[in-house]
Amino acid sequence: MDLPIEKLYSVGPKYQKRLHSLGIKTVKDLLYHFPHRYDDYSKLMPIEGISEAGTIVTIVGEVADISVVRTWKRRMTIVNASIQDESGLMRVVWFNQPYIADTLKAGTAVSLSGKVSLDKKGLYLSSPSYERLSLSDYGLLQDNSKNKPSPMVDSQLSGRTHTGRLVPVYPETEGISSKYIRFLLKPFIKQLGGLRDGLPEEIRKKYDLPDVNGALASIHFPEKIEEAELARKRFAVEELLLFQLRALLDRRKIELTKAPQINFDEKLIAGLVKSLPFELTKDQKISAYEILKDLERPHPMNRLLNGDVGSGKTVVALVAAYQAVQNGYQAVFMAPTEILANQHFNTIKMLIGRLQLIAYSLQPRICLLTGSEAKQWPVDITEEEKISKKLLKDKIAKGEINIIIGTHAVIQKDMQFNNLGLVILDEQHRFGVQQRAALLRNPNLKTQIPNSKFLIPHLLSMTATPIPRTLALTIYGDLEVSLLKEKPKGRQEIITRVVAHTKRQDTYEFIRKQIKSGRQVFVVCPRIELSKAGPEKLRNGAGNRQLTIDNSQSAKPISQAKLVWADVKAVEDEYEKLSKKIFPELRVAMLHGRMKPKEKEQIMSKFKDREHDIIVSTSVIEVGVDVPNATIMMIESAERFGLAQLHQFRGRVGRGEHQSYCLLFTTDDGNAGRRLKALEKTNNGFELAEMDLKLRGPGEFTGVKQSGLPDLAMASLADVELIKQTRAEAKLLLKEDPALKKYPGLVERLKKMQRMVHFE
Ligand code: ADP
Ligand code: MG
Repeated sequence: MDLPIEKLYSVGPKYQKRLHSLGIKTVKDLLYHFPHRYDDYSKLMPIEGISEAGTIVTIVGEVADISVVRTWKRRMTIVNASIQDESGLMRVVWFNQPYIADTLKAGTAVSLSGKVSLDKKGLYLSSPSYERLSLSDYGLLQDNSKNKPSPMVDSQLSGRTHTGRLVPVYPETEGISSKYIRFLLKPFIKQLGGLRDGLPEEIRKKYDLPDVNGALASIHFPEKIEEAELARKRFAVEELLLFQLRALLDRRKIELTKAPQINFDEKLIAGLVKSLPFELTKDQKISAYEILKDLERPHPMNRLLNGDVGSGKTVVALVAAYQAVQNGYQAVFMAPTEILANQHFNTIKMLIGRLQLIAYSLQPRICLLTGSEAKQWPVDITEEEKISKKLLKDKIAKGEINIIIGTHAVIQKDMQFNNLGLVILDEQHRFGVQQRAALLRNPNLKTQIPNSKFLIPHLLSMTATPIPRTLALTIYGDLEVSLLKEKPKGRQEIITRVVAHTKRQDTYEFIRKQIKSGRQVFVVCPRIELSKAGPEKLRNGAGNRQLTIDNSQSAKPISQAKLVWADVKAVEDEYEKLSKKIFPELRVAMLHGRMKPKEKEQIMSKFKDREHDIIVSTSVIEVGVDVPNATIMMIESAERFGLAQLHQFRGRVGRGEHQSYCLLFTTDDGNAGRRLKALEKTNNGFELAEMDLKLRGPGEFTGVKQSGLPDLAMASLADVELIKQTRAEAKLLLKEDPALKKYPGLVERLKKMQRMVHFE
């Protein structure tokens, strides 16, 4: 299984590289490269029985003649062949595959599957899949093909790989066809038998699932589609079970590690809450309480604060940080971008500034530390807010600063803390898996106490991606989740409309009016520039690198399947159009992920200071940004985005006192267009997330891609029942066999699994 793929006889250096780009490095990877669909070529027909164009058929016969024609005009080669069986003769045509004429010489026995087409000369098979048959196979068939083919013959022909059966179709890349993958796989499938099963037998029996050998054979070369589905379920159960086990074990480990105990001082917290410029919502209070209770425990908290955009997570985090400070600990508040870190610094400065300190409370001293800035607050008369990084780091190490706000600059190797008690991770899904892993390995975050083990800080992660409960449970295992479902009082509902193209001019007029009255506007497009590359280029993985879709911030690659490339709007073009033609009198700016962080920063802060009226942007503006004066979010080619993501964009407006609007443009009048209507109906992120999950599957869900969950398990996340069952099974396994001694295979795989976020 661990044999490198290039050791196979038929894999040369060129193919090795291409296979690697598909993630296939070993034989095992090859076996676990599952088909994403099957072509049903099982309908074996005698030639005389074929009468209808458009049907998919399989014929078996002998090549009567074959020749290559080159058409210089259209620069094409055409292979013309006729195939003969006992009942008749069939014309077959292939385009641009001249080598077929060498493979299939006259007299060759062949099996062909493909679409029946019709032209002036009659019915023919158009570019069918083909494979040569051994003469014995063919002889067997000839006797029977006079009549209807019998099932017996069919099953004896099940040795076929590319035709006459359910044929697997794989995720491909340039130069690696499904046919090639089938060709590589087939010899292994024939020999399967000795693989150790990763799924305990009890569970297999209980759920009537095939063993690993059988399942691999069935998923690649099923006789019936049901067989493939069952195999797929089996692998999904295996992945889910592992995931659940990992989560439970991680949880157990947390209970063995120590964290600083941070006492909940109700009087101090009440003082903070009273000083806020608004009343906390019920959900904010409950979440804050849950967090404060966690902080009191001697084990590290691992909690996710999951709240819709604008639900007020920052202030809940501040409550936690404040309590840590009052217990003499430091808190780190980390955001994924400098823009956000700045925003948090200003917000927290403002909120703490209002605080009336009581007799025994400590003054929180905060700082901002990013790649380009270092600030502190409050400052003595002799100091300035701006400070050198070196000096600031020194103060942090001495414990003179106790709330450290910043980007990942705050956990770089050279950072020393005095006694860190709490780490807050805002927009946690924006931190890559690598960054999160680095976070939990960072020894500087731990506090050594004399004669004892290390103290591990508590972790509060926050996300605005509304994660449905089942998803949260699976992705994050036994991570605790606090929910902010309700929005603060007094927020105006954002008006959302899917706008018809005939209303485009009116929309521009509307935008002009809003800007005249002092408001600002976002325009979001899916792409950065119009490239000459068409959808072909996108569809094969190899071309992806040259693409200009802005994925720099978004975890979600744009769905590649049904792309009408020319219709997808691009930022650069919209920017040209809007700034020169439509709104020449207005101040239009452009923002996308290929700009330098500094540039992006500048544009955003100018927008905040109302020096731009309109920002044309890719999805980089998606998270966190708080510009209360912006009232219109206009989204081009909205069908390119998931509902949950669109909801995030929408959350950029409606943050101030003014009525706000989300205007969706789409070129898709079909399903995708209808899907967008859901946004008109509800402003509730959780409802939308559930819908998105059902409609598009969890694979498209922001953040989930980073969870480390394998594709198959991901695909079954919508299956709540299956998740519950695997959860129960995982618990049972651990209860009966805490060290999993009976399952060395499981233990081995668990060790390799990506670790989830928390400290150890
Ligand atoms: P998010 O959850 O998206 O991070 P923020 O924490 O940025 O939301 O809060 C959004 C805005 O709502 C901020 O301007 C904040 O001051 C305000 N806010 C937070 N809580 C409340 C509340 N309970 N009532 C009114 N406004 C609030
Ligand atoms: Mg936020």
